[in-house]
Amino acid sequence: MLLMEMMRTALTPEKLAAFDSFIDGLPDGYQAVVRSGLSQQARILGAQLEPNDHIPRPLERVYGVVHERIVRGEIVTNGQSLCLLQVDEILRNEPGTRVNVSDADGDTQPQYQLRLTFLTGTTDRKPLEDFATLVNKELSADLRKFILGSQRFEDLKNEGGQPPTAPTHSELSLASELIDKSVRTLAVAMKAVGGLLVSDLGNQLPGRSQGEVERAKNSLLQTGLAVSEVVVICRKSQAQIACVPGRETLEDVSRLSVICACGRAYLDERIEEALNVIDATRALLDSSRWLSLIVLDELLRLGITLDQIRIDQVRGGDELDAFVNVSGELVLFEFKDKRLSHVTVVSDLIA
Ligand SMILES: [Zn+2]
Repeated sequence: MLLMEMMRTALTPEKLAAFDSFIDGLPDGYQAVVRSGLSQQARILGAQLEPNDHIPRPLERVYGVVHERIVRGEIVTNGQSLCLLQVDEILRNEPGTRVNVSDADGDTQPQYQLRLTFLTGTTDRKPLEDFATLVNKELSADLRKFILGSQRFEDLKNEGGQPPTAPTHSELSLASELIDKSVRTLAVAMKAVGGLLVSDLGNQLPGRSQGEVERAKNSLLQTGLAVSEVVVICRKSQAQIACVPGRETLEDVSRLSVICACGRAYLDERIEEALNVIDATRALLDSSRWLSLIVLDELLRLGITLDQIRIDQVRGGDELDAFVNVSGELVLFEFKDKRLSHVTVVSDLIA
């Protein structure tokens, strides 16, 4: 999984020189990729580096309606992650469609802005926190996370609906067990008919080996998705006449001389072990809530905030399983047949 996070802060003009000395004096463990690359090229080609060769030629760009010019840049790595640093000189910034949603700068843009883009192949954001702390200390800066906004996401959001709440640890641990198709098939069947006899579990998983059925059963019990019950079945009518938590309860009931309508004592009837799902499992299976929680957890781990996510929305009769602002792109998720079937980036759709 690729993780990208962006941070930025205002920078006073005096800090431009401090930026250069910060890069020149990076602590052990960090390497300035651009500067070291230039030095190596110069050494190999026998060329002389000028003092300002590492400073990019002012590159002016128009991004939405923001006009800016990159005046400093460097790529810093610790070997595992990349930190792209750039200093922009803000030339003009008018209210426009590509809005910043994490803070309200309005028209009080600083003259210079330091931007840090962090890239890594894992979801470990500790290197980012460490590096941001270092930058803040050395440049007396105050880097804040920012995200790009999406006008299409804002429009959909404004039609109503609330951001989701973060899943609890116990919800997530149960939901992640339901990813297993055999476990889920059994849980869905138990929910539908109010429990299953252990001897019937195999019928719910046609074509699966006995070992696979046993594995799914153990998984249901060990994770707490289901509990074991004892079922009493009348030998005469074949109807289920009682369901108790354990055999001890059955013995207690029998001591009270409770008997079946056919005249037999409970302990003389057919006694079978059954499994049934608990209420929390039923709630997770309703409208495939477990899948929404898994997707939500993945999005949060990618650094997307709850406010930029809407899940299980209905719009004019159309069910939208989830829509999310991912770095300025509106992304739609569609869950079909209890599995994730589509992820659509709206700009791709339009293109
Ligand atoms: Zn009976």
